[in-house]
Amino acid sequence: MWTAITQQNTTIAEDIMTGIKKMEPVPFTHVAFTDSFWAPRQTINREVTIPVAYRQSKETGRIDAWKLTWKPGDPNPPHIFWDSDVAKWLEAVGYSLATHPDPALEALADAIIDDIAAAQQPDGYLNIHFTVVEPDKRWTNLRDWHELYCAGHLIEAAVAYYNGTGKRKLLDVLCRYADHIARTFGPGEGQKRGYPGHEEIELALVKLYRVTGERRYLDLARFFIDERGRQPHYFDLEAQARGEDPAKRWYPDHSYNQSHRPVREQTTAEGHAVRAMYLFSGMADVAAETGDRSLLQACRTLWENVTHKRMYITGGIGSSAHGERFTCDYDLPNEIAYAETCAAIGLVLWAHRMVQLEADARYADVLERALYNGVLSGVSLDGTRFFYGNPLEVNPEKFACRPDLLHQPALSPRRQAWFGCACCPPNVLRTLASLGQYVYSQSDNKAYVHLYIQGEGTLTVGGQKVTLVQKTRYPWEGHVQVTVQPSHAATFTLALRLPGWCRKATLRINGEPLETDTLCQQGYLSLSRLWQPGDVVTLDMAMPVERIYAHPAVRDDVGRVALQRGPLVYCLEQVDNGPNLPTLALPRQASLTAHDEPSLLGGIVVIDGEGTRLSTEGWPGQLYRPAPPQIEHVPIRAIPYYAWGNRAPGEMLVWIRE
Ligand code: ZN
Repeated sequence: MWTAITQQNTTIAEDIMTGIKKMEPVPFTHVAFTDSFWAPRQTINREVTIPVAYRQSKETGRIDAWKLTWKPGDPNPPHIFWDSDVAKWLEAVGYSLATHPDPALEALADAIIDDIAAAQQPDGYLNIHFTVVEPDKRWTNLRDWHELYCAGHLIEAAVAYYNGTGKRKLLDVLCRYADHIARTFGPGEGQKRGYPGHEEIELALVKLYRVTGERRYLDLARFFIDERGRQPHYFDLEAQARGEDPAKRWYPDHSYNQSHRPVREQTTAEGHAVRAMYLFSGMADVAAETGDRSLLQACRTLWENVTHKRMYITGGIGSSAHGERFTCDYDLPNEIAYAETCAAIGLVLWAHRMVQLEADARYADVLERALYNGVLSGVSLDGTRFFYGNPLEVNPEKFACRPDLLHQPALSPRRQAWFGCACCPPNVLRTLASLGQYVYSQSDNKAYVHLYIQGEGTLTVGGQKVTLVQKTRYPWEGHVQVTVQPSHAATFTLALRLPGWCRKATLRINGEPLETDTLCQQGYLSLSRLWQPGDVVTLDMAMPVERIYAHPAVRDDVGRVALQRGPLVYCLEQVDNGPNLPTLALPRQASLTAHDEPSLLGGIVVIDGEGTRLSTEGWPGQLYRPAPPQIEHVPIRAIPYYAWGNRAPGEMLVWIRE
């Protein structure tokens, strides 16, 4: 038995500085879930959300737009980011087919791929809008338009579809397009020294490099990253070439798209949060492949800023709807929180890359926080409706009567069937379809477990296959049993993440308790021994209801408390607690108990407690008075944040008055 939060103050170990990558993720195709939390969500994702997203994309014209039949004067011109919506759907289908073959779905995807291939121009160019709507404006406004962003998502789709089906058609198309882009952009004579206004292609090109082995794709990713923010500023030169005043843009400086200075000189996360996450992920990828420690150092610095000063408790980031962007340190308003679903997904992508580089569990802690809260909240339990923004406090009446909020449909208090800007739904789709990739990593001598999900993963450690079988009710219970099944007895290290939320844990191997204080290395309990097939490791993590407080500089959370249990952040809903949730309070000594509600919201653990409420009785004809409201004692019920918005519409609140 021990009590420690050793991973909170870890330093970068010396060995990290000698090898740039500490581990490789185990592909999701080697990971299976048999739990009652994620496995059913993956089934719904596959059986419900993939068809929903197809239908929405079909009905809105996104899929048929690839046929390039739109003519000037026709309604519904293909938008500059439509390509990416279909690409993310194809990417998700590629992941799904890898684990669940489905000839009908594959035929549907193949038909789209045929159209995409036919849409490719003789020189390799591939973009719907700039082929049929504004063909004379190719590559003329990288700052505001999304050609390279769309290209990136198409590349990701091509890699996923090739890996999932073995079919090369889309991959070959995207290699030709990437080659066209590599001819167009670069440091050479006659090439453009531009880079995307909406990042994404950087990380995609690294994927393309990894699947093809073609170094030029990695070089192009590095070029885009190195070129970003240099002077003279490309976006200014480009605006001048269009005959525009470079200063005339709707955001005040180039920080909106992270080009305000070269990436290695950026120390705070600025601008559009999704763009920032995709950029930082690409930087981590290029660092991993090239050994560029200056990029890795920039990632570390930016990580500190995001996770210590600019992240919601849910893992949501980007607190301003205006510009979908980061604002300043500790500015984390709850009701007007933007916290786009895509941004939380981007944080997962970045965290996943950082943990492979650093072998430090603080990255996996954030990955888990975002995944179980700010990402999962983005889709309804039935898989048909979506949140774009993920606020931490909602009052539907206020939304309905305030024009400033109505102008932000992304802040809607109700989940939506789809969005005009439909980036988030297919992003959730591809994330859930490939979720297995986040659970395990492998290296020459270590098997890492980052997430606890019942099921199994097959790793390759030191050339030997090692299957890890997890038995657990996580995230509802902190008891985890890992059965180690190497193909024959072998010496290696099993590194189990001790989550940052855990303050008390016990560890046993084959029933024998271990002195664990010395085993924790950068947040991983590292067990090195000669493993025999069938060895059982048991990790018991105490999972009490925790009252969580925000840094006092977070003005919106002063005097408030949030409830968390294990990795799950909780919230209050009107349907359980009545209206006027801000009148509720949770005194510091209030008892709080957690218990199973198997029939509620797909089966959850609720938190019940005794709270107080400010009474609205006795205020007839008064708006102000020199006497405080009466205080009533009331029961309070909290549910996991991810599950809110699945019952009767109403108020929601994460940070509760204390
Ligand atoms: Zn989005």
